[in-house]
Amino acid sequence: MRCVLCRYGETKPGTGTVTLERGSTTLVFKGVPASVCTNCDERYYDEEVTAHLLALAAEAVQAGVHVDVREYRAEQTLERATARQLSNGLREVPAMLQLVDTVEEVLSNIWTYQTAVRLCPTVVFPSQVRDWYYVPGVGVGPSRFIGYKEMTCEKYEYHKKRNVKARGKTKPKPGEYIDGGETERHIHQKGWFRKLTLGEPSYKQAYDLAKKLAGTGVRNGAKFYIRK
Ligand SMILES: [Zn+2]
Repeated sequence: MRCVLCRYGETKPGTGTVTLERGSTTLVFKGVPASVCTNCDERYYDEEVTAHLLALAAEAVQAGVHVDVREYRAEQTLERATARQLSNGLREVPAMLQLVDTVEEVLSNIWTYQTAVRLCPTVVFPSQVRDWYYVPGVGVGPSRFIGYKEMTCEKYEYHKKRNVKARGKTKPKPGEYIDGGETERHIHQKGWFRKLTLGEPSYKQAYDLAKKLAGTGVRNGAKFYIRK
């Protein structure tokens, strides 16, 4: 493609170094696949790689990593990383829930959800999801999982239990429990997604992904949205 920055060079496949900072965590990934401008050396990373990096970074934050320099490996799946984390027994109490600010955070959460479904079958029920959000190349996810910052299995489980415990007693405050209505309104207000109609090729893609995740089938009347 033509470089957007210098508007002169063409890009060629190559690699780059990406530094991500979140709170007190600094992560450096080397050897990240990129399209590199032959004129100005600007690097472009595709959506899938970006989502993967963000998800790996979210995990590192959860695991309490401060500084880490690593070689990027596309095959370093979240499954393995998350499984390791679970076996280490995360003791950290997840922070209050905060709604996402950027669509990149949503992408990262959708990526996490693809694994979370398999690792935490008791807390995420794909067969009951009414509204699915689809990002081609990344996956599908429900608003109540993807609408809060840096969602993980542990965080979801913790805040969902809190909700169940509080039922019939004093209502927990927003940010203390998983509220699908709140995340749905938020995502729609942001305008990142549009509704898919039956018959669109993307509708079928999203439906098939959801069905694969749910195993038992997609809920009747489920709706699908795609990233604009
Ligand atoms: Zn350039």
